[in-house]
Amino acid sequence: MAVPKSKITKSKRNMRRSHDALVAGNPAECANCGELKRPHHVCGACGHYDSREVVAMTVATDMDEDAA
Ligand SMILES: [Zn+2]
Repeated sequence: MAVPKSKITKSKRNMRRSHDALVAGNPAECANCGELKRPHHVCGACGHYDSREVVAMTVATDMDEDAA
């Protein structure tokens, strides 16, 4: 049942919110580079998935640093 906001004490509000915190995911090690990654996702560091490269990674060069 809906309760007016002004009737909810800080204590009750905070007790309810005690369960609202986000928890960290379940990181898995990339089989290629060892970086921690989300399971069933392409590795953000090397672009590998299922032991093969599916996203071409750009290589940092001197030209890139000048542009930045
Ligand atoms: Zn990787």
